Amino acid sequence: MGKKTKVVIENRKFFCDNPNCGFTTFAERFDFLSQKGKKTKRLIEKIVDVSLNTSSTTASRTLKGGIADVGKSTICSLLKKRYASS
Ligand SMILES: [Zn+2]
Repeated sequence: MGKKTKVVIENRKFFCDNPNCGFTTFAERFDFLSQKGKKTKRLIEKIVDVSLNTSSTTASRTLKGGIADVGKSTICSLLKKRYASS
């Protein structure tokens, strides 16, 4: 909600004993995180939103002012990820 926040998650791991199953372990998933994601989906939306109409350097400075410590290379890769395939 616009505040710099650190979320600490205890991610449970589950094991499958079914010999006919192709998976041996399952990790708990969360709606607000993409698989293996380290930023919440809402934070990514905010970063993209702030970065769309400005340089990555300016966006990084704006975000570090109270939203998240994000470098310009992270900003660029998030923008590429968002707009490369569409
Ligand atoms: Zn299974």
